[in-house]
Amino acid sequence: MAEKSFKYVIVGGGVAGGYAAREFVKQGVKPGELAIISKEAVAPYERPALSKAYLFPEGAARLPGFHVCVGSGGERLLPEWYADKGISLILSTEIVKADLASKILVSAAGESFKYQTLVIATGSTVLKLSDFGVQGADSKNIFYLREIDDADQLVEALKAKKNGKAVVVGGGYIGLELSAVLRLNNIEVNMVYPEPWCMPRLFTEGIAAFYEGYYQNKGVNIIKGTVAAGFDAHPNGEVKAVKLKDGRVLDADIVVVGVGARPLTTLFKGQVEEEKGGIKTDAFFKTSVPDVYAVGDVATFPMKMYNDIRRVEHVDHSRKSAEQAVKAIFASEQGKSIDEYDYLPYFYSRAFNLSWQFYGDNVGETVLFGDADSNSATHKFGTYWIKDGKIVGAFLESGSPEENKAIAKVAKVQPVASSLDQLAQEGIGFASKI
Ligand code: FAD
Repeated sequence: MAEKSFKYVIVGGGVAGGYAAREFVKQGVKPGELAIISKEAVAPYERPALSKAYLFPEGAARLPGFHVCVGSGGERLLPEWYADKGISLILSTEIVKADLASKILVSAAGESFKYQTLVIATGSTVLKLSDFGVQGADSKNIFYLREIDDADQLVEALKAKKNGKAVVVGGGYIGLELSAVLRLNNIEVNMVYPEPWCMPRLFTEGIAAFYEGYYQNKGVNIIKGTVAAGFDAHPNGEVKAVKLKDGRVLDADIVVVGVGARPLTTLFKGQVEEEKGGIKTDAFFKTSVPDVYAVGDVATFPMKMYNDIRRVEHVDHSRKSAEQAVKAIFASEQGKSIDEYDYLPYFYSRAFNLSWQFYGDNVGETVLFGDADSNSATHKFGTYWIKDGKIVGAFLESGSPEENKAIAKVAKVQPVASSLDQLAQEGIGFASKI
């Protein structure tokens, strides 16, 4: 098959791929120079929509509504935009081989793509229960959610199993967002996770207590401290029940599993330096291999603020890292330099009528403030994380845009916290003064 050649190739057409494309255009890429190669059949879109508005029973989000860059208030890049800019958007094409030494990528269909500069933006893939050998885990109607095809299959199942029963396995982002949206679809929901409270990687016990109470009030039955140990299926192969390790058995027409993800670095194994499970980069997302950059979920990069190196699986970083890498590519071509990436971690989630934001680092002592009563109508509350006498992280549920800006500033400025009691009393008022 003929070899195609591009000055720049982005492998992966997800969030980082899409934001990188916009930045390439801002930097003056010429028609014909850039290709995006993606396994998915659609142009880059805002992935977080898949576990939220995409699954609404009414008024659900659909493409082209949420192509990048609408998630950050930017221009919506439709397929025509790429054509107009002379960018080759090569969809439904999985790269199965990458040879970084000879600068060639090969697709599953055997096509070769040559590049001068490569941006790796392959994101993550979900961990599957079948990978851990869980009995019956390949039954029908057990779903994972990463790409739009996964979400479409879930939408079909929701139609087929109206008013049915679901078990959600996992108490992280996906578990919490999916349990909420399944309830909105009038599905009975049991949510199962082994930890003592939900989202333990970020939430404190106090934060989690609010969400668990709120979810229970919305009819989500939460089962903690155990895991799905196996599945029973009907003769047609569809899942029938989830068997828990503690012996309980839960009926299920639908199972949604959200037990984590793994960065997709396999293609590049042994060819590029890795660290903390990702591809190691510098503050410009340059990898150990010349002319190869890695952005988004796959990059392990220097977190300047914390003098540490980390990998981040969140949408804000995927957008910003993509922009930084493309700026760095153009700067280096012009013999110029740009500032190092100086990222302030920012995570958010939305479910039911709830909406939280978190900025900074969740280490040290914590102070819970505000109204964190899950039965209250107002329920505005937050938490500060304090390390070495300074506030290093801040979380806020139901904040106004100004209040969210205020907690971002607190996490960036890291003001001294002289009294934890006073912080608890002042709550969001403290952040608003910074
Ligand atoms: P992705 O967006 O995953 O894009 C990777 C792309 O590469 C995909 O299109 C994939 O098909 C393609 N690809 C992979 N391998 C190949 C290959 N070999 N050949 C060709 N193409 C390939 N973050 C938040 O901060 N807040 C949220 O509320 C939130 N919600 C989320 C909800 C869901 C359902 C999911 C799955 C994630 C959510 N995230 C959220 C995380 C966020 O979406 C990711 O961090 C972000 O998408 C990472 O961007 P990326 O470009 O690195 O990877």
